[in-house]
Amino acid sequence: MPELIYCWRCKMDVPMLTEDEWQLVNPTGLVEQIKRYREETGCSLAEAYRNNIGATSLTAYEALTGFRETNPAALMHHRLKLYGPLCTSCRKPLRTPTATFCAACGAGREV
Ligand SMILES: [Zn+2]
Ligand SMILES: [Zn+2]
Repeated sequence: MPELIYCWRCKMDVPMLTEDEWQLVNPTGLVEQIKRYREETGCSLAEAYRNNIGATSLTAYEALTGFRETNPAALMHHRLKLYGPLCTSCRKPLRTPTATFCAACGAGREV
């Protein structure tokens, strides 16, 4: 079961996926799917979501994490690889893999 980690964009704790899990959920395929659907139908992004495009990825994410996400686009960044290690002081992830200090509390990265 993926760990709940603070997401800087959603501003809440979410299950962050490892690379293996992320491949299973496959949000990249989903983004392609949405793009194709919009090209075919000329609908807006919001409409594509409303018509359940992306339901496969959302279902896979829920099956893996037990967390019900409703916005398929959020899955794109719920990926551990995009962030640094957890801050030793406040347990939020460093904002990027190369960050040298925590953007939340200012603590330096542990070497
Ligand atoms: Zn997020
Ligand atoms: Zn911190």
